[in-house]
Amino acid sequence: MATYKAYAAPSAGATLELIDVPVPELAPDHVEIDVIVCGICHSDLSLIDGEWGPFSQYPQVSGHEVVGKVVKCGSAVTDLKEGMRVGVGWQRQSCMSCNFCLVDEGECCVGACGCVPTCAGGGKGGFAEKLFVQSKYAIPVPETVDPEFIGPLMCGGITAYKPLTTYAKTGDTVGIVGLGGIGAMALAFAKEMGLNTIVFSTSARKEAMAKEMGAGKYVISTDEEQMKAVESSCDMILYTPNVLPDINPFIGALKMKGKMAFIGAITTPVPIGMFGPPIMKDLLFAGSHIGGPKKIKEMVDFVAEKKIKVPVEVYDFKELDACLAKMRSGTQNGRMVMKW
Ligand SMILES: [Zn+2]
Ligand SMILES: [Zn+2]
Repeated sequence: MATYKAYAAPSAGATLELIDVPVPELAPDHVEIDVIVCGICHSDLSLIDGEWGPFSQYPQVSGHEVVGKVVKCGSAVTDLKEGMRVGVGWQRQSCMSCNFCLVDEGECCVGACGCVPTCAGGGKGGFAEKLFVQSKYAIPVPETVDPEFIGPLMCGGITAYKPLTTYAKTGDTVGIVGLGGIGAMALAFAKEMGLNTIVFSTSARKEAMAKEMGAGKYVISTDEEQMKAVESSCDMILYTPNVLPDINPFIGALKMKGKMAFIGAITTPVPIGMFGPPIMKDLLFAGSHIGGPKKIKEMVDFVAEKKIKVPVEVYDFKELDACLAKMRSGTQNGRMVMKW
């Protein structure tokens, strides 16, 4: 039987092993992709470490920020051809017939399968030589941009891009909370979208990086004085971390009719005292996750046109374990991208 190599965690939190995975039979609407690069998203680590319960299935092969080359198309594939360069993100498949799939918002699929994740629930992801996905979710990407700058866009990038384009307009002031991988991409996009930016962080560690990337202001969110100085400043706040000890300082930073979008996997309840600024300021609180193929294409075109280079560190796939350790300790700068 034909096999391909993949980096798999044999059990929760274990060191990865290079295993042989059987090549699956290609479904009619699927494509086979040779992986060129794959970024590391925090979700990959959560899946490896077993933090999301049944979403992890061992041996767990994570990886969902892929750029690769289509090497084989299923019999019913008409939108892609062998040799095309494509990107794949969090989603590998959807029903293709519900109201959301029909308008290219398959990330909100309400069909029987829902939004099928690339590397969770048993799906074998992109920390591998090959990846097999529905052709709709292999999105053509330009070869004029180096693949390492496109991989991280496929999950982290679109997660920032969709709410920015949904809830902010040119000239708005946007608060970006957290300057990890997604926050840094949000900042790079916001600058090219003509938005004014305030970066909120719990430490001064990333101030130089934020300023270098064009942040308008850098605010330590745990410093009451600094937060007071930016009261009622933001038309929108994009909240990227996966922990939120206290939402109130950020509610204070929102303008009248301000909007706050959450994209981090915050697993603890977020209490909001609605009686007060939330209703008196007509605030909107929104959740947001990834984006559909059309939105991803729009983002990739925007990045190519504006020549945006998201901050990345490129490593050989052999260094994957060391990179995951870096992420566990939160010491990486920008998105880490693995290359074969
Ligand atoms: Zn992700
Ligand atoms: Zn659907």
